[in-house]
Amino acid sequence: MSVVRDLAAIAKGLSITFRETLEPAPVENYPDGPGPERGAVFEGRFRGAHVLQRDENGLEKCVACYLCAAACPSNCIYIEADENTAEVRISSADRYAKVYNIDYNRCIFCGYCVEACPTDAITHGHGFELASLNATTLVMRKEDMLVQIATAAK
Ligand code: SF4
Ligand code: SF4
Repeated sequence: MSVVRDLAAIAKGLSITFRETLEPAPVENYPDGPGPERGAVFEGRFRGAHVLQRDENGLEKCVACYLCAAACPSNCIYIEADENTAEVRISSADRYAKVYNIDYNRCIFCGYCVEACPTDAITHGHGFELASLNATTLVMRKEDMLVQIATAAK
């Protein structure tokens, strides 16, 4: 009986292979395709370069709590905190991240930082064109990752 079962399993596997062979191959016209991703197609949960988010008032969501840096297994997040003042308010809490760097030489895109963030300040975007021959360009700074005010969530 086990031989019959094995043959049935092989036949089932081959039928799937044969069916897929006849399906048209999906072609992504990257990098000459339309749209901001230049023809690349992503799954919704694809983990690309990080994005630092703003709240509905345009303030930075990051409150410099360091939880993302503590959760990072690659130790590639560097943060320097500073205090908001009555005159200069950057985030809605007491503190904000004056410096927020991610070293993409070390990041493994595990998403632990995103999971750890209590304010949903750090998220994964779809940016994927990160390759570089110069390792120093792979250290992304807050200014590289922060959502621009004009495109902040409404
Ligand atoms: S995705 Fe993972 S490795 Fe990359 S910064 Fe976040 S926690 Fe660190
Ligand atoms: S990104 Fe989130 S977890 Fe990291 S310091 Fe800012 S608020 Fe805290």
